[in-house]
Amino acid sequence: MLIKSDLWQRAQKLIPGGVNSPVRAMRGVGLDEPLFVARGDGATIETADGRTLIDWVQSWGPLIFGHADPETIEVVREAALDGTTFGASTEREVELAAEIVDAVPSVERVRLVSSGTEAGMSALRLARGFTRRDRVIKFNGGYHGHADAFLAQAGSGLATLGIPASPGVPSGVTEDTIVCEYNDVDGVASAVERYGEGLAAIFVEPVAGNMGCVPPARGFLEALRLLCDASGALLVFDEVITGFRVARGGAQELYGVTPDLTVLGKIVGGGLPLAAFGGRAEVMAQLAPSGSVYQAGTLSGNPLATAAGISVLRRLRDRDVYDELERRSARLADGVAPFGRVQRVGAMLTLFAGREEPVERFEELDTELYAQLFRGLLERGVYVAPSQYECLFPSLAHGDDEIDATVEAVGDVLGR
Ligand SMILES: *Cc1c(COP(=O)(O)O)cnc(C)c1O
Repeated sequence: MLIKSDLWQRAQKLIPGGVNSPVRAMRGVGLDEPLFVARGDGATIETADGRTLIDWVQSWGPLIFGHADPETIEVVREAALDGTTFGASTEREVELAAEIVDAVPSVERVRLVSSGTEAGMSALRLARGFTRRDRVIKFNGGYHGHADAFLAQAGSGLATLGIPASPGVPSGVTEDTIVCEYNDVDGVASAVERYGEGLAAIFVEPVAGNMGCVPPARGFLEALRLLCDASGALLVFDEVITGFRVARGGAQELYGVTPDLTVLGKIVGGGLPLAAFGGRAEVMAQLAPSGSVYQAGTLSGNPLATAAGISVLRRLRDRDVYDELERRSARLADGVAPFGRVQRVGAMLTLFAGREEPVERFEELDTELYAQLFRGLLERGVYVAPSQYECLFPSLAHGDDEIDATVEAVGDVLGR
């Protein structure tokens, strides 16, 4: 279908695997050449070879107002004219912190960093420093960035200590990571019983977005809260996807469960490289320079990124935004429902192609059917996540026309 372009040839000679993040190679959906994007506009992207595609990836979630949002562009342009980085404090950092603290129920203090990986890694160090404990529970199929401690696989048997999921990760690091199954309260309870004394934190995506969209079962998040209270571990919500998406205050607002620490990324930076972690004042006070847990960053709180974040977060104060996102996401979900199992919370959703039963935890899925769907949609001008294990991210730039065209294309590919 695609001939190997010069650009792709060059990329492969210069960059490992030709890409700067593995999923971009699109190998999981059987492409031998990935998309190169030249520009974006609202709901669409234009590829380097001149094709316009309806984009449901939206850079994996940050772009709640779509590509090249004029207000974001304008504030970034204005900020850039005054200098792109100082490595010193700026007013915008304080303003963005105020927006985050106002929006996210559990966050009393917040620190800005540059990526979700950095935020997750720092939140883990802080939880360990605060509790003076080392162990962490995470969930199979949950993603918290690529810090060593999170790159653990479940060993054999229930609630075992993790083994490295990548060469280069020392087994000594993942030995302190315990991998449980998502939505399995009994499994977590037995892990806490066994390892609770040394347990620093439970890290969880309050709506899982990296095993496909998997909502928390009724009572799951509440049970994690109780288990943390009983054991003295901190509950950490990784709201890198859910923050400002499933509600302004994230999943903690939607489900009414309050974590000790929250990890934010994607939307919080308005499409620029910015992420954050925050939580209870008492815990956050342990960070340097007020405390002794070290954490730092040359580009942290970058002027362009904070400008974009402030602009986006202020507009998200308007409740209508979430009503509208809900309406559009529901329209998409209803449209594609005949073609598989659709799981959705607000503006994050996955079509598990050809499947009927719910997906409640990480599972090996039918990736061949999804790959077929992906390629068929691409031929019809629709770009969805190049993996069955990811979400589609409706934005305020996706109108009914784009939604209906997408539903029609899915019907075309999968047959009515
Ligand atoms: C994307 C993501 C991260 C990592 O963020 P990066 O900015 O890619 O480092 C962490 N947690 C979750 C839930 C994510 O989806």
